[in-house]
Amino acid sequence: MFPTLFLSHGSPMTVITDTPGHRFLAGLAATMPRPKAILMASAHWLTMGPALSAPERNETIHDFGGFPSALYACRYPAPGAPELARRAAALLAAAGLPAAIDPARGLDHGAWVPLLLAWPEADIPVAQLAIQPRQGPAHHLAMGRALAPLAGEDVLVIGSGSFTHNLGRVRRGAVGVPDEPDVAAFAEWMDQALEQGRTEDLLAYRTRAPFAQEQHPTDEHLLPLYVALGAAGAGAKAERLHASADYGVLRMDAFAFHA
Ligand code: ZN
Repeated sequence: MFPTLFLSHGSPMTVITDTPGHRFLAGLAATMPRPKAILMASAHWLTMGPALSAPERNETIHDFGGFPSALYACRYPAPGAPELARRAAALLAAAGLPAAIDPARGLDHGAWVPLLLAWPEADIPVAQLAIQPRQGPAHHLAMGRALAPLAGEDVLVIGSGSFTHNLGRVRRGAVGVPDEPDVAAFAEWMDQALEQGRTEDLLAYRTRAPFAQEQHPTDEHLLPLYVALGAAGAGAKAERLHASADYGVLRMDAFAFHA
């Protein structure tokens, strides 16, 4: 059984900047067996209803502006995983969550930033799963639960987002500064809720976690966490793999969820 993962992808600069988050992602593949395929739920593919990508080969989408040219030169031409997309769609449909299949969609930076660092050879087939920003944590936990059989089929399910994500507070150049206290308080509450398996609290995080709305003015960057949590099955155990913050406000925490 593969664990499922929640990864914070941070700024696109994570790819080319030597930060603790960069080093964690670069060392990730060495900690686990090689998966047959990867299903990546990314905070940067937002749709009204569930959707899966199924190209033969993934295009690299540079869905950001104003960054150094080195980032636009990045390519992650991993094979697509149309068979996995169809399998995932069948699992979602069986749970009452019919999913569209997009045969052209490539990999956005929420997907390729961590993949390029962790598996730079780009030789593992990847399909993406879209996030529904209006449908909240419970819907994403349900999508994950529907996909739980994949972990027993040598598929690595990853949710890629950001543990905290208030870009209005990011000050470029604020490198190596300590976490803002409210950022640390939110992250600590979430970490405890995850490690103690407090699913009801996690689903209600926007009202129960301290400073939640301040960390996630919109919650699309946290929703992939619920996909990963669900995909490890009911009663999954959370393990924090990494904790750090960029700019004092953008937490890069990562978790594994074990069935
Ligand atoms: Zn992002």
